[in-house]
Amino acid sequence: MSGLDDFVQPFQVESRSAQGRLVKIGPALDAVLSAHNYPSIVAGLLSEIVVVGAMLSGTLKKAGVLSIQIRGGAAINLLVVDVTHDGGIRGYARFDETKIKSLNSDRYVADKPIVPVLFPNGKLTLTLTEEGKKSPYQGVVPLEGKTIGDCIAAYFSRSVQSEAVFKIGVDNSDLGWRAGGLMIQRLAQKGFQPQSGDERIIDVNEKWNRAVILMKSCSNTELLSKTLHPHELLYRLFNEDGVRVFHPETLHMKCRCSQEKVKNVLSNFPHSEIKKMKNGRFVMVTCEFCNCEYKFLLDDIIKIDNNTY
Ligand SMILES: [Zn+2]
Repeated sequence: MSGLDDFVQPFQVESRSAQGRLVKIGPALDAVLSAHNYPSIVAGLLSEIVVVGAMLSGTLKKAGVLSIQIRGGAAINLLVVDVTHDGGIRGYARFDETKIKSLNSDRYVADKPIVPVLFPNGKLTLTLTEEGKKSPYQGVVPLEGKTIGDCIAAYFSRSVQSEAVFKIGVDNSDLGWRAGGLMIQRLAQKGFQPQSGDERIIDVNEKWNRAVILMKSCSNTELLSKTLHPHELLYRLFNEDGVRVFHPETLHMKCRCSQEKVKNVLSNFPHSEIKKMKNGRFVMVTCEFCNCEYKFLLDDIIKIDNNTY
């Protein structure tokens, strides 16, 4: 880990009740957002999804990409974040500027229960694309919760059939955007098949409940601190039960677009769509993730026949 920023620190609580991930992200988050000039509320919510993506990137067992999409809002139509197995992050948002301005406040406020207001028919899509797998895994669930953290916990309960708790902090100062995240997931007790009334159930539940209480005692200041070492923070939180840390992953902004990839995508577009994008003899495309502009000769994209254009 270089410095105390832009990393994912995996850990396990020694009572074997929970495993978790601690994320702190500053310059890498600023790099994702600085490709755009989003209103505060859009940038703040996208930051929360970046943190969630970083926390869940450990779900990738092989080289690949984890993608999170949130849809279903009138003011914010789409929030997308991609995280690769080696910590490359990118993200973008689609929104209606007029509708954002008509909100009570377009300023991002952490922990505000804004999700049901902004995404009344919201859907959360999580896609895992891994090398060597024929097709990606995709889970789609309704957005259930008042905050992004609640919605991700509900996703875990519904799709992963596992209990998990998330804490997310985002801050925007003169120094830029930074964010932190802490999640714990309940560990399955291997070889343990208790019968009703078994005292071990009470013990296992108590350990998990204690891990949740300890995790929730993390303050926003601790979560967003640039100087508090992750090992120190985890020890502060879980020293009662003990905590084991694993190899951390570094986070950085990385877009995977290229002239070749954009050309391939364009080649599969219907003629009518290409027609809308052409400008004289050229087709111009802007990558929504990083704002890079690509310019192609129309003739290179498609053979002109029967005066289609
Ligand atoms: Zn790009």
